[in-house]
Parts: sequence; structure tokens; C-alpha cells
Amino acid sequence: MGPAVFKFLSSEPLHDAQASPAPNAVTEIKCTTCYMCACRCGIRVHLRDGEVRYIDGNPAHPLNQGVICAKGNSGIMKQVSPARLTQPLLRKAGSERGAGEFEPISWDRAYEIMATRLGQLRATDPKKFALFTGRDQMQALTGLFARQFGTPNYAAHGGFCSVNMAAGMIYTIGGSFWEFGGPDLDHAKLFVMIGTAEDHHSNPLKIAISKFKRAGGRFISINPIRTGYSAVADEWIPIKPGTDGALFMALMQVLIAEGRIDKPFLQRFTNAPQLVVLDEGAREGLFAFDPDPAKGPPGDGRNPHNKLVMDLSDGQVKAAYPEGIADGCEPALLGHYTLADGTHVAPSFQLLSDRVAPCTPEWAAGITGIPAERIRALARELGHAAFQQAFDLPIPWTDAWGKVHPTTKARPVAFHAMRGLAAHSNGFQTVRGLAVLMSLLGTIDAPGGFRHKAPYPRHIVPNYRAFNDPAMIQPNTPLNAAPLGFPANPDELAIHPDGSPIRIDHAFSWEHPLSAHGLMHNVITNATKGDPYRIDTLMIFMANMAWNSSMNTMGAREMLNQKGADGEYQIPFLIVCDAFQSETVAFADLVLPDTTYLERHDVMGMLDRPISEFDGPVDAVRIPVVKPLGECRPFQEVLVELASRLKLPAFTTAEGGRKFKDYPDFVVNFQPQPGIGFLMGWRGKDGTEHLRGEPNPNQWAMYEKNNCVFQYHMPKDQQYMRNWNRAYLDFAKDKGWRQRNDPVQLALYSDTLQTFRLAAQGKTAGRQPPEHLRERVAKYFDPLPFWYPPLEETCTDLAAYPLNAVTQRPMAMYHSWDSQNAWLRQIHSHNYLQVNPLTATAAGIADGAWCWVESQWGKVRCMVRHSEAVEAGTVWTWNAIGKASGAWQLAPGADESRKGFLLNHLISEELPSAGTASGRISNSDPVTGQAGWYDVRVRIRPAEADAPDESYPQVAATPAPPGVRGVTEQVLAYFAGGKRK
Ligand code: SF4
Repeated sequence: MGPAVFKFLSSEPLHDAQASPAPNAVTEIKCTTCYMCACRCGIRVHLRDGEVRYIDGNPAHPLNQGVICAKGNSGIMKQVSPARLTQPLLRKAGSERGAGEFEPISWDRAYEIMATRLGQLRATDPKKFALFTGRDQMQALTGLFARQFGTPNYAAHGGFCSVNMAAGMIYTIGGSFWEFGGPDLDHAKLFVMIGTAEDHHSNPLKIAISKFKRAGGRFISINPIRTGYSAVADEWIPIKPGTDGALFMALMQVLIAEGRIDKPFLQRFTNAPQLVVLDEGAREGLFAFDPDPAKGPPGDGRNPHNKLVMDLSDGQVKAAYPEGIADGCEPALLGHYTLADGTHVAPSFQLLSDRVAPCTPEWAAGITGIPAERIRALARELGHAAFQQAFDLPIPWTDAWGKVHPTTKARPVAFHAMRGLAAHSNGFQTVRGLAVLMSLLGTIDAPGGFRHKAPYPRHIVPNYRAFNDPAMIQPNTPLNAAPLGFPANPDELAIHPDGSPIRIDHAFSWEHPLSAHGLMHNVITNATKGDPYRIDTLMIFMANMAWNSSMNTMGAREMLNQKGADGEYQIPFLIVCDAFQSETVAFADLVLPDTTYLERHDVMGMLDRPISEFDGPVDAVRIPVVKPLGECRPFQEVLVELASRLKLPAFTTAEGGRKFKDYPDFVVNFQPQPGIGFLMGWRGKDGTEHLRGEPNPNQWAMYEKNNCVFQYHMPKDQQYMRNWNRAYLDFAKDKGWRQRNDPVQLALYSDTLQTFRLAAQGKTAGRQPPEHLRERVAKYFDPLPFWYPPLEETCTDLAAYPLNAVTQRPMAMYHSWDSQNAWLRQIHSHNYLQVNPLTATAAGIADGAWCWVESQWGKVRCMVRHSEAVEAGTVWTWNAIGKASGAWQLAPGADESRKGFLLNHLISEELPSAGTASGRISNSDPVTGQAGWYDVRVRIRPAEADAPDESYPQVAATPAPPGVRGVTEQVLAYFAGGKRK
């Protein structure tokens, strides 16, 4: 024990926080961007003699305005974490994966290993390299690397996280919640939050809710659990997990039946009046269209403006735009009509009305657990806020067809939704339901409603086609499209002529056609099975796949160790890049020590995930405030170095030399199109241009001088109604955020989905799904939103497993990083299963007692906490607090491993499926591939009296890898004001 430990154990004060620093101490404050969660608040890092002493919020930052949370403040403890890796490591020859036996190697050796192996793969079969990343913020770079390498096997964590939220909203209104849009609480009167825990837009949302409440706004939280933001809600409406879609259907039923809809908005700005073909055949369910080629190609799913409407004012069928919106026109929303050629049609709103008609509050009550009268009253509250509390902002604007609107109409009912809707296998259609509900109320990019953030709204469907041509996977050749994108029809699926998937995760195949974020949760399973083929090298960055980032955690660990008949691992080479000794590190063949967010450059820009505000685009950077620890190197630098060594074209000069010195150089000089780069501030040679301009060699210095953030405020008349706002659409095209400046009509009815359904029904020529998937595609690619029970329920004995089980992030922690943080561990060192007292008592489990939680896939033993803040049919816990023994440099017997637990052990990454080669299919949304990890059903029972007081399952501890910092004294010395060793 060092002296600091003795001092720590004594009663003498450790450190006088108010004492002046030593007279000759050098103190300074550096600005950067937080990464203790994904919100990206601006922070000020206070340093003394080069060591981080304190972190606070940056008051000059537009996002958090000086507010900081417990996590952000505790970044200092991440910096001194005992679990920090400090040098590249190679698995010892002869040792088994998972044993955690490594030898340290140099970076040169690490690069040599990677360049040789990956170079050989690229020269022979590039798809044998797969790159999957966790919650990183550099997908513009990682995606570029994969594309340039020539592998389609790339994705980040979105398929495991919230792709249903992104895709469901983008395919309906052209934008989505959180990074790309959110509730305008400055103008809202009613705020309905559904399926949202404490994460996602944390500090900004807290600031907004606080202002909203002070201004007298009404806040309703709909959630199975009352935690986080819901604590300050005026009303909590408990709902059963996976049933939100039924609630939306019933709300729409009431609003339509009672005429509480924004009819002029629907007629002008959505496809509600557009005529859908009702006759059976290849056109069935698609919009009737004007065949004039000047009106745009029909059926390409990307915003053709050639549809038809019935004008009730003169009984004529007209082009929807611009004739159908001319003054005096009255496009029909209801009715059935016959076109001149005899085609039977109806406005899509008629079909929506028919769809929701049977979905009464009484119907939804039996599914959601919310009383019918409460649903009916909620619908009326929504309508009241949208229409009776509407007001006008004195902001004139001009729409895409030249009509001047003298004011901007506020529809002051705002929603916010997130993973509670998304992480179910019915999430895509549920999110569609919410987006259509919001559209009925006219609350899209309106004051007080949902508002976009640049570069959104995108087209419906966005003009980003995912790579889909297997013939283009060629040695030493970049792909001709990015690995991820937004398919608009079956021709854009990533499949072979026989219908089998191109990608290792089966994304963009008939199994999950619109999997815009990939299926990270199936990579290990599929690669182990060799389905659809074997890969050689899997590179994982910042994703804890051997623990909390996998469904079926123990299965994933076994698969990482699985060998074939030849004695080789089924996944022959595993590269793990992480800053910490996570559970996954022990399974790596090669470990790359990453830096922390305080030690590196980073970009949160318009090519990826900017931090835009409602009134204009914002991007931000991280700039190192301290030197990297040991031999740590940022993953960005690793990729730029590797890309240069592999001579990937985008990283190589015409003469074959290295194009970029390092990552900062790459950020400044890389341009996907002229004038457009990773950062939009201070462009042009002299730094006087913004948004678009030549590279500026001093761009990083300008960000450093300006709080690491660039904010652009658009003129008022471009800030609202951006789907149809002429000035905004022109501006956005000019700045490269969109390819065209045409308007984005809301897709209440999705003809895009219908093209997949028609193919599945065999009604169109061209690509059709394999036989075993026909029924599935035809059912779930419904052009109108609908509710269906989560897929897992169809193969579960619901009487035997009567409870839903879900997880959420705690307010004080984010992913697995934080339950090793010395300060944050003092808030949560282990988790409980939270159970309603009625449910727990009926099962005979006392508050604080140990219990078994069992699903049909597995079981865990954990401690129970009685809680009335959860509906009686749901149990839940905080995610990622439970740790494997020996990982993260936690002490033997640490609460995190002995009392903490993961629900992941209860969840399967696959469900039975007739017809597939393996008889199984991903446990995911059949539309998007979103992991259905909130679908699991469980039962609970008391643990046996003689069962050990520790969580189950436990795993054998692994030894500390060489170079891991791992000395607790240093954390204690830090507290004592001593110098870091
Ligand atoms: S909300 Fe997230 S980004 Fe903001 S201070 Fe907290 S941890 Fe950091």
C-alpha cells in the first residue's frame, strides 16, 4: 500500500478543495466536447500542471449552455481508470481466446500484422474483412474505410440500438427524433414522452423540460416504468412493453372519427389525398400517377411528384402538384373513385381511415393495459393542444409551390420517443404509427411540435442507396456505394441473384430489407456459422460484444471460442480496439489501445451526426486536452494509418504516396464533394467561408478558439416547415445537404413498403423473396401502420412466461464504460430487478431478496427491489452495470460482478424459423433488423434458501493484460491531490 492509501484510510482530510493551488502551479482551462454519453455537451477541462483536475459545462456552448451531468463531471475518473489499456497486445501463442493471455507488442508490429493480413484479404476477397463498431461518433470515417477497403461488412451499433426510430420516422416524415429532430418545447403546450428513458439528448432535454414546466406546459409520460424524465411528468400512464403501436392506432381512430385532424395540412403537405390503385395486380396498392416523364419516374420510391388527386370542387382527377393544390381545389381525403381508364382508386387517407376504424380505445385497452376512457381523453387532449391552443408566429414563409404563408402556424403538441418504441420486433410499424399520428395533427416541423435539425429532412426515401451489387466486390477495389443506406425497392436489396444475402449480418436482404444500420447483433452468430459465408477477420471497435452488447451473452462468448474441424477458430482473427479492459478484450487476437475522449481529435459533423439545433446546423469537435496515456492511439489515427499503408484510393495520392499526414489533416482536407468537408465552420483558404468552401489549413485552430463548436443560425423564414419551405430547400441543396430541392411530402401511406409487398405476393416482375420469406415480407411490409404482437410472443408460452422484461440506462451511467468509474460506482455499484410489489408478493419474493428470472432461453439470479414505479406486468433493470469477474480491473468480488447482472443472458439473438438453412432467423424487426431485445418474456421465482448470495451466471476471472494501468493507488492518489504516476 502506498502512502496515499494510508492517508485515504485516516480521518485526516484528504484534500482541501478550496485551498489555493501551489504558487508555482500552472493552471489552464481547455475546451472540448464531452463523450461520457452520446449527447456531446461542451465542456471546460481544468488542468493543473497538465493534469485534469475538474470538468464543468461550457456556458458558451449552444447545446448544454453550461449544464453538466454526473457522468460528464466524472470524466476525470475515466481518465485515471485502472482499466485503461496502454499498449498493443497480441494473444500469446498457444493460449485460448477468453483466457486473456497476451504479450505486448509495438505499434509497428501491430500495423504490420494488420496490413499484411488485411492487405491479403483485400487482394483476394475483401468481404472476408468485417468492421463493426459500437457507439462511436466517427461513422463517416469508419464507413469510408470499409467502402474503400471493398467490404460490405460494415455497420455501427444502430441495429442494436434504435434503427426502428430512425427508419420508421425517416421513411414517413423525412427526419427522426434525437440527433436529427426533436420536440420544440419552447412553443409546446402539451408534451407527450413515450418509450424514453433518461438517455438520448440528456442535458438539452432536461433544460428544455425545465423551461417548459416553468412556462406552465403539461407533460405526460407514457412508459411501463416511471424513471428519469418521467419523474417530473404531470401524469404517468403505464403501458405494457411492445404495445405502443396499438395505442397510436387507437389515438388515430379517435382523432379521425371526431374530425380532430389538420385537414388543410394533410391535403397540401402529405400523400393523404393521393389516389391509390385498388385493382389487383402489379399496380395494386401503389399510387396512380401521371405518366408524363417530366413529372418524374414513377415507383422509384424517391419522391416522384406525379401522383393524382380527386378535386371535389369540380369532380376532376388532377395531378397532385401543382394543379391539385391550386387555390379553389378541394382534394378529396375520403371516397372511392374510378379513373378514366377504369382503374379503381381511393385517397390513401380513406385507406388509413379504414385501417384504424376497428382500432377503438376499447380494442387498444386490452392490449396496452391503458383504460379505454384514458385513451379517448388523451386523443382529445392531443387534438385540443394542436387546434384549440394553436397560434401563429409572425414569420411569413413561402412553400415549394410558391404560395406565401403570411404566418407560421404553431401546433403546440410535441412528442418525444426513443428506444422503448424501437427495440421491439414491431418497432418499425409502431414508429410509423407515431409519425402518422403526428402528421394527422399537423405537428411536423411546426412551432411547438416536432422540428427537424439540419441536414434533415431528407427525401422519402433518402437518396442514399446501400451497396447492393455482389459483382462489385472485387480484389483491391472500393465499393461503388456506401455499405449502409436506405433501400427504396427490391432492386436495391443487397442480395445475390438467388436471393441470398451479400452481407455477413444479412442486412438489406429479404430477411430485413430496410436495415439501414446493419445488424451488429448477428455478426458473431453468422460469422461462426459461416452464414452466408466465412469471414477471416472481424475488427470490433468500442463494442462490448462478449458481454453487454450481445443478446445471448454466454452464447456469444462460446461462439468467439468455437473452432472448426481443422482446429481453427470459426472467426479466425479478431481485432479489438478499446480504451479499457472490457470483457471483449480477453477474446481478442490483437488488442489496440484506444485513447479517451480527452486525448484525441474527433468530429461531430454534417457527414455523420452533427449536433445541429432547430434553428440551424451546428458541428463540434474534440481537441486533445491531455497527451495519450502510454502508447494509446486514437482509432481514427489507426484507420488513417492503415488506410494509407493499404493504399486505399481515398487515402493515396495519384502518384501512389500517402495523402494525409494524420487524422486532423484528413479532416481538414478530405472532401466528398467540392467545398464540402467533415467540418463546415471556417472554411476557405482564409477561414472566412462557412458551410461550404475550400479546405482551410487553420480550421482546427479556429474551432479551438471558438469553444470547439460552429453554429449557423438560419433566417427565421427557413426555420420551420422545412419539408416544403422553398427558401430552406434551395439553401440545403446549395450547401450539399440534399441532392435536390424538391419538397418532401409526408408518407402517411408508404408505396415504398408496398413495392416489397407486391414482390412478396408475386404480383410484380423482378426480384421476389425466397418462398419461406414471402408471407413474412407480405405481412410486415404493410403500406399503412399496424400493430402486431412482438415476434417472440408467437413462439413463447405466454402463460408460462407472463412478464415482460426490459432494461434502461441509468441517469448516471452510459453503456459499460461507467460502472467502472470510481465516482459513478458510488451511485450504482450493482443493479436490482425492479418489480411491482403486487407481482413480487404474488411470487413470494420479498424486497431485497434473491430471485430467479427465467426466460425460455436462459436464466439469471439477482436481487429484487419492490417498486411501484413499474406496471405490474413488467420487470426491469439498469443495463450494463453487471460485469464479468476480472474485467474492467474491478476488485475480485466487486459488487458489479457478484451482485450485478445482465438481462442479456435471457435474450436470444435468433428465433426459430422454418425455411432458413439453420432453422433460425434473427430476433429482429422483420422490416429493419432492429434487435428485438425488449421483447423477451420471463417469469420470476424466489431463489433457493441455500443458493449463494451472488448473481448467476458467473464467469471465471481473467488475468490483467500486460500494461493495463490497474493500480488502485493512483485513483486514491488523485483524490489526495497528488500527482498522477
Ligand atoms: S449529458 Fe452526456 S455529453 Fe452531456 S455532460 Fe452529461 S455525459 Fe456529457
